[in-house]
Amino acid sequence: MTIRTRIAPSPTGDPHVGTAYIALFNMCFAKQHGGKFILRIEDTDQTRSTPESEQAILDSLRWLGLDWDEGPDCGGEFGPYRQSERKDIYRKYAEELVVKGHAFHCYRTSEELDILRAARREAGGHTALKLSDLALPNSVVAERRAANAPSVIRMVVPEADEGVCEIDDMLRGKIELEWGMVDAQILLKSDGMPTYHLANVVDDHLMQITHVLRGEEWINSAPKHKLLYQYFGWDMPKLCHLPLLRNTDKSKLSKRKNPTGILYYQRMGYLPEAMTNYLGLMGWSMPDEREMFSLEGMIEHFNIERVSLGGPVFDTEKLDWLNGRYIRESLSDAEFIQRISQWAFHPERLEAIVPLIKQRIERFSDI
Ligand code: GLU
Repeated sequence: MTIRTRIAPSPTGDPHVGTAYIALFNMCFAKQHGGKFILRIEDTDQTRSTPESEQAILDSLRWLGLDWDEGPDCGGEFGPYRQSERKDIYRKYAEELVVKGHAFHCYRTSEELDILRAARREAGGHTALKLSDLALPNSVVAERRAANAPSVIRMVVPEADEGVCEIDDMLRGKIELEWGMVDAQILLKSDGMPTYHLANVVDDHLMQITHVLRGEEWINSAPKHKLLYQYFGWDMPKLCHLPLLRNTDKSKLSKRKNPTGILYYQRMGYLPEAMTNYLGLMGWSMPDEREMFSLEGMIEHFNIERVSLGGPVFDTEKLDWLNGRYIRESLSDAEFIQRISQWAFHPERLEAIVPLIKQRIERFSDI
């Protein structure tokens, strides 16, 4: 079996250091096993996805040396690697689930959903809406269909009294999640676009992904995914939920407390190898505990079992210290000159600052 992992970012905004961290671990895991690392763009949310953000993701991962074997720019056997180009595939699979009785067309209006949710909340206990809550009399469905009312396709999920779903996680072992918390998830929206859950499962299967290493915020989605794999009769990839990056006060890494955009660190003159090294220290350590290591070194020694679950802290002071060490210990003077010239005379940066400085100087030395 060839190990195949992927990073599946949504191109909505500045590429996040958390994306690079997850990409790094996926890449190391795949490469260490002689496998493949895939980049897939999850742009099904058309209102929030932009081509600029996609380009920035590609640029920033490449800047960090986290190159992929298959992706939207370089293609591959299992393309296209951009979900917006795979719409027909998802529709076909959603309809297959309807035919098999694992999914249903839902004509509920948003007002009706609000009322149903409010009633659930009042009743206490679980709040998820199930097929039993959402079903409408056949005559009403027929009426709404005839009137071309908008509808979505939702998946059938077990009722609240059916107990728990057991998820196997490579780091956390068995996790139990209550079915009572799991909604009859929308799979296909009224505009024909899939939701994350359907597109992600279909693509991981078709792209032959063997291991899904992703952030722990996706644990609650795992029961839906497990169910979808069962409904389709497919093997589920192994799941591994990595701990989220944290601010120094242990809260979830946020823009308010730390710069979180990868390109910020590029603009500020951090060395990509120091950045990648630092991301490698997020929850992971070399067997000999050394703190400075190359990407190749990390790939060689990578062992997923050495990932610790205690929330890794993304501390810019520590990153500064490591970056300083890289500058002093790993760059010759000639390399330093080359790197700082590349950074300072980067055409885009110059284009941005030249109009400002031109107005204020008499000679270059004023700069
Ligand atoms: N598109 C999801 C994200 O933005 C992917 C999550 C996953 O890896 O399954 O993070």
